[in-house]
Amino acid sequence: MSAPAVEGSAAAAFRSVLTRVHQAAERSGRSPEQVRVVAVSKTKPASLLRQVYDAGHRCFGENYVQEIVEKAPQLPVDIEWHFIGNLQRNKVKSLLAGVPNLHMIESVDDVKDNFPERKVGFLQTKIANHVDRVVASLGRKPLKVLVQVNTSGEESKFGVDPSGCVNLVRHVKLGCPNLIFSGLMTIGMLDYSSTPENFKTLSNCRAEVCKELEIPEEQCELSMGMSADFEQAIEMGSTNVRIGSTIFGVRESKKKDE
Ligand SMILES: *Cc1c(COP(=O)(O)O)cnc(C)c1O
Repeated sequence: MSAPAVEGSAAAAFRSVLTRVHQAAERSGRSPEQVRVVAVSKTKPASLLRQVYDAGHRCFGENYVQEIVEKAPQLPVDIEWHFIGNLQRNKVKSLLAGVPNLHMIESVDDVKDNFPERKVGFLQTKIANHVDRVVASLGRKPLKVLVQVNTSGEESKFGVDPSGCVNLVRHVKLGCPNLIFSGLMTIGMLDYSSTPENFKTLSNCRAEVCKELEIPEEQCELSMGMSADFEQAIEMGSTNVRIGSTIFGVRESKKKDE
């Protein structure tokens, strides 16, 4: 519950973020239209999102399935939702059925081998395959996805290892007819201590993927950059920045973020 004084501030903060995005794009000789802003609204009430919507914005990001499924119906249908959180198999159907205006899943990765009991037949559990099947079974049109890459090497972080990137992208492109491979996404080191290296790694992954699979680079987005580092991300080629707290204010429970 936000205090009444907070009302109105999200729209103002959003406008100032847009200005900074435009300036960063221009500084690096890019057009501001090449950079999408995903307003990351997790934990924030629909009323705050509405402010930013009323300021003209249509792209919002959430990372908990239950939350997006509750919020989306309270807001206009022309919102383009991005799902940016870790996606568990058993939640895919609720997400896709509950959010008809879901525009993109940014966080497709490989199932991590943190379930030692699942050893054989493991490839069949790929999250991409599951999303692909559910899209088809619901009769939805093909869905845009990004492949999440773990550029920081942190154990707990989700995302495919950079060395497995080409294989997973190939799999999505060739083996998942109901998914539209649209690019790569990374979170990077949580304390931002190696942000430039993480962004560079993602950009190298794109170069490799595009070369190996003969994809024009313009057709492979880079989703990188959050509140603390989005300007740097844009200067390093980001096409999709995910900005939460700078627009909506700090979130209450830090723990839920990771
Ligand atoms: C929460 C979150 C963001 C936004 O973080 P801020 O630092 O608040 O801008 C971006 N990307 C992902 C994947 C997130 O979970």
